[in-house]
Amino acid sequence: QAFAPAAEADALQPRPPVITILGHVDHGKTSLLDRIRKSKVVESESGGITQHIGAYQVEYNGHPITFVDTPGHEAFTAMRARGANVTDIVVLVVAADDGVMPQTVEAIAHAKAAEVPIVVALNKIDIPNVDTAANVSKIFGELAQQGLNPVEWGGDVEVVKTSATTGLGVSDLLATLETIAELHELKADPDRPATGTCLEASISEGRGVVATVLVREGTLRVGDVVVCGDGYGRVRALFDDQGRSIDKAGPSFPCEISGLDVVPDAGENFAVVDDVGRAREVAEARRLRTRDAAQAERQTVTLENLYNRMAERKVKALNLIVKADVQGSIEAIIKELEKLENAEVPIRILLKGVGGISESDVILADASQAIIIGYRVAPEDRAITMADEKDIEIRRYDIIYQVTDDVKKAVEGMLVPEIKEVHLGRAVVRQVFRISKVGAVAGCFVTQGVIERSAKVRLIREGREIYKGAIEALKRFKDDVKEVPQNFECGIKITNFDDVKSDDVIEAYRVDVIRRTL
Ligand code: GDP
Repeated sequence: QAFAPAAEADALQPRPPVITILGHVDHGKTSLLDRIRKSKVVESESGGITQHIGAYQVEYNGHPITFVDTPGHEAFTAMRARGANVTDIVVLVVAADDGVMPQTVEAIAHAKAAEVPIVVALNKIDIPNVDTAANVSKIFGELAQQGLNPVEWGGDVEVVKTSATTGLGVSDLLATLETIAELHELKADPDRPATGTCLEASISEGRGVVATVLVREGTLRVGDVVVCGDGYGRVRALFDDQGRSIDKAGPSFPCEISGLDVVPDAGENFAVVDDVGRAREVAEARRLRTRDAAQAERQTVTLENLYNRMAERKVKALNLIVKADVQGSIEAIIKELEKLENAEVPIRILLKGVGGISESDVILADASQAIIIGYRVAPEDRAITMADEKDIEIRRYDIIYQVTDDVKKAVEGMLVPEIKEVHLGRAVVRQVFRISKVGAVAGCFVTQGVIERSAKVRLIREGREIYKGAIEALKRFKDDVKEVPQNFECGIKITNFDDVKSDDVIEAYRVDVIRRTL
């Protein structure tokens, strides 16, 4: 996005919707994806399916629809956390012989957090005795309880009966998706330099790095220079989902590209840039950043990012994930929380469920800046580790009014999200050492407070701030140290900055984000 000019309003043209299928294990996600893909092969008479690239496009009524194969809702949300919000509509698969199951509830939460419309595929409808009024209305009831009120019941969620086995209802499903897509007027500008998302990537023998990408804006062509994550390269070849060589790919078109120099992560965005030199610059800068980021620095950056993301999206809702020991506890907690409904800061419950706090809950919390509330339940080991890493708050309770008390405080606190700078100390530069492969190291004397390795710094020259950044290395003689107090000498290397001079002042500070801490 930073590489391409903003699209002119009249350059926008309709683009195909991008669909992700989510649901409980064994309810038929894979079978349904396969069945839909086969409907295309029959139509185009192009013979067997030669290649599966994790995404494909079919045509319904002359309108293309793109399907993305995401391995579960965790991956769906993990991609979203990277900034890859590729999905326009979620198809929630619910097996008619099983109904709403724990992972269905999770999938609903993940789709809702992504704020995309949900269409339910009531699958396996071919199984004898499941397409009965009693069974269907039982499942409608389960859906309604999760906030998905079927159209048949006066709600706004389309429920389409399908069978991945017989193909029954598949074209109804496609028709429904097309209608919803039309309603949302999805548009893109095919004429600008292409941007999009990497869905998956690997190294293939003889072909180098191959990446499945989804074009979002513009048109990607063979010969284009792309930057993707911290990789770059010239697009050597483009293939469609059946492995046919193509020379260009427009908006919402999934394709496979070769020519990148390193394997990007799934969810990484790509952009076409003017020339290889520029691409290399961007990619190398990103590589350095990834490599050099020290743990402590990362921590600060994460907090800052969190704040920025909140500010950017103007998040003005308190997102909660509520896990409890029994259904009764959940109902009691929700009832109490409803009493707190505050006009200025709505409380959004992204997920409520019975059971321990899982990794999947933490992933959802991370992508949606939510707080996890555990009532008489414990987090799994891996959830604790991940919550620590991602700085996600897990709050545990065994008394209901304490939950509501804390949530109330959080809502009040949220009205003034704040970022606070804490001054740590100052050092004056006495001498500059230029060390090959390292750069300029400033020999300093700490005149006030303390310089911390994890601090952010400002470089002040003749009373003016000339640079802001972080500390790459802090040394006492030859040793790396965590901090250096007043009246001591130290060596400071500022990350990515070498223009330091004698008499410059280095000011160290810490950034605290006052978040919605309960
Ligand atoms: P996933 O885990 O959600 O991807 O589920 P799969 O697509 O792997 O399907 C799980 C099982 O259900 C497989 O044995 C499928 O053959 C079966 N299955 C999937 N869809 C249908 C359907 O519409 N009808 C019937 N009878 N079986 C189905």
